[in-house]
Amino acid sequence: MKRALVCGAGGFIGAHLVKKLKREGYWVRGVDIKPHEFAATQADEFLLRDLRDPENCRRALTLPGGIFDEVYQLAADMGGMGFISVAECEVLHNNALINIQMTHIAAELHVPRYFFSSSVCIYRDMQPDEPPVTEDDAIPANPDNEYGWEKLYAERVAMAYGRRYPMQVRIARFENCYGPEGTWTGGREKAPAALCRKVAEAENGGTIEVWGDGTAIRVFTYVDNLVDGIFALMHSDLGGPVNLGSDERVTVADLVRTVIEASDKPITVSYVPGPVGVHARNFSKARVASLGWKPTVSLREGIARTYQWVEAQVAAARASVRCA
Ligand code: NAD
Repeated sequence: MKRALVCGAGGFIGAHLVKKLKREGYWVRGVDIKPHEFAATQADEFLLRDLRDPENCRRALTLPGGIFDEVYQLAADMGGMGFISVAECEVLHNNALINIQMTHIAAELHVPRYFFSSSVCIYRDMQPDEPPVTEDDAIPANPDNEYGWEKLYAERVAMAYGRRYPMQVRIARFENCYGPEGTWTGGREKAPAALCRKVAEAENGGTIEVWGDGTAIRVFTYVDNLVDGIFALMHSDLGGPVNLGSDERVTVADLVRTVIEASDKPITVSYVPGPVGVHARNFSKARVASLGWKPTVSLREGIARTYQWVEAQVAAARASVRCA
C-alpha cells in the first residue's frame, strides 16, 4: 500500500485530496495547524502541527520504518482577495517558512515524490483580449500581489531541491478552485463561496454587493476536477510548473449570474469598490492536457452543487443562532 502525506489536510483542497487518495487505496497521514471545519477527516492519521516549525515538519514527514512514497504540500496561510490584500506580511512570512522547511526536510529524508501547490497568482496582470500565456511566460515576473511572489519563490525552492536531490518535484499552478466544504464566511472565503453566501443570505428580491464592476475575467475550477489533475500530474513525468484550471473563461458578472440562477431567487446586483485583483486571465492548458486531464464539471453544475452546500451552511448557522 502506498503511503502519502497531505500537508494542509484540514483545508479545502487538502481534505478533498485526502478523499481522492483514499479512493485510490493509499494510507494517508494528514497534517494541519487546525482540524477541518466541515467534515471528519478521512485520513488514516491526522496530526495537528504548525509547519512553520522545522521540528513539526520532521515529525510530519517521519514514518516508523520507512518513508512516504508521496508528499503533497498544500498548507498555506491564504484566502480570497479580501484576505491576501491586507495580510501581506503573514502570507510572505508564514508560507515561505512552511515551504522552505518542508522542501528541505522532505529532500533530506529522501522523499521520492513531492508535490507543491502553486497558483496562477504568480502571473502578471493581462488584458482581456491577450492570447494565452504559457508556464514559461511567468518570467520576467510581475505578480499582482505578495501571495503570488511567495508562490513563485517556493516553486524555485522546490525545483532547486529537485535538481540537487533524487526527489521528483511536481508543481501545479491552481486556477480558482471552488466547491463544497470550502471556507464560505469569516473573511478568507474566495469569490464563488462568498457569492453563494451573499445570495443564500439575501431575501427574495434583495440586493447583493459585489466588488469591482463585474468585467474581470476568470476561470473557476471545480475541486473534484482539480484533485484528479493533482493526482495525474504527480504520477506523470511532467517536471516544471503546470497550469491547472478549467478552460471555461467567464466574467465575474457571468459568475454572479450563475450563482443567482442556482439559487432560483430574484436578486439584484450592486457593484461596489473593493479588492478585485487582476483584470484578466488566459493561460495555456497545453501541458496539463498532455496528461489526458480535462475538466468534466461545468461552471453551472459546479456552482449548483456549491450553492446547495453553502445554502445549507447558512441555514444551519441561522438555526444555531435561533437556538442560542
Ligand atoms: P485552505 O486555506 O482551505 O487550506 C490551506 C490549509 O493550510 C488550511 O487548512 C490551513 O490551516 C493550513 N495551514 C496554514 N498555515 C499552516 C501552518 N503553519 N501549519 C500547518 N498548516 C497550515 O486553502 P485551499 O484553498 O485548500 O488551498 C490549498 C493550497 O492550494 C494552498 O497552498 C493554496 O495557496 C493553493 N491554491 C489554492 C487556490 C484556490 O483557489 N483555492 C488557488 C491557487 C492555489
